[in-house]
Amino acid sequence: MRDLTDIETVGVVGAGTMGNGIAQVTATAGYDVVMRDIEEEFVESGFESIESSLDRLADKGEIDEDPNAIRDRITGTTELDALADADLVIEAAVEKMDVKQDIFADLEDVTDEDVVLATNTSTLSITTIASATDRADQVIGLHFMNPVPIMTGVEVVVGERTADDVADFAHVFAEDIGKETWESDDKPGFVTNRILMPWINEGVRAFDEGVATKADIDKGMKLGTNVPMGPLELADHIGLDIVLDASQTLHEELGDRYKPAYLVKRKVDAGDLGKKTGKGFYEYD
Ligand code: NAD
Repeated sequence: MRDLTDIETVGVVGAGTMGNGIAQVTATAGYDVVMRDIEEEFVESGFESIESSLDRLADKGEIDEDPNAIRDRITGTTELDALADADLVIEAAVEKMDVKQDIFADLEDVTDEDVVLATNTSTLSITTIASATDRADQVIGLHFMNPVPIMTGVEVVVGERTADDVADFAHVFAEDIGKETWESDDKPGFVTNRILMPWINEGVRAFDEGVATKADIDKGMKLGTNVPMGPLELADHIGLDIVLDASQTLHEELGDRYKPAYLVKRKVDAGDLGKKTGKGFYEYD
């Protein structure tokens, strides 16, 4: 059984929006972190984000430790070999299958054979990424949410060949660094992006088709559905390139998902209209 006592050093691949956040929360939990990107300037910009985020959290009293001590547990590098000592690696590079497969093949070469290799992919298949290695049983999705230091959720995504003990370990590790988890099978977009991406794209189309101004689309969704950000704001927050890559994957894999779901129609025909009738997808008193 894998356990947390085996983990001292966590490798993070990519120092961008997600990578630097993952490095930060992992170091905050007390682990040593090696954060790798392909260019020194990306590593430096990752550290700038980490430092300002840690300072903000310290000012708000949300971390107990000196931010510099947390920062000092993170080593930045552009060298692949620097990941050789990692006991767990979390990949957060760009959302391209060929890039991720190359990274996982490299990680397999450079790390010890029992090291779990996790990916933060938004939509790509864990099983396909894992097929670039000979240790598919040790490959898993650890899908953090943005911004990582603030959002508590982590989606654990289990590939076709992911071992049960690796899935269990992924939940335990994420909880140890202060997150709450849920699990998804390795289906396009998992739970979150399968539902979120059509919502964002529909917001964009509503704007493009002149339904309302950008501000009113975002305001309408916030006030109307109690979400903290509307679709256009959220798309900007995620990164439009990530939204595009994720949407393209979902489109290729799932086709036209915008028709009303059949199950909604069936429930309406049955009179199960939700809270007002006491029964919809859930039951109410
Ligand atoms: P980003 O563009 O901010 O950062 C990606 C980083 O990866 C860049 O710094 C880039 O130089 C680096 N990189 C590229 N190739 C590399 C390689 N071979 N080795 C090491 N580093 C490499 O992107 P991001 O928003 O941090 O997204 C990273 C991953 O996280 C993607 O798979 C994305 O789908 C996923 N994700 C993003 C969000 C979000 O809201 N942005 C949320 C959840 C998951």
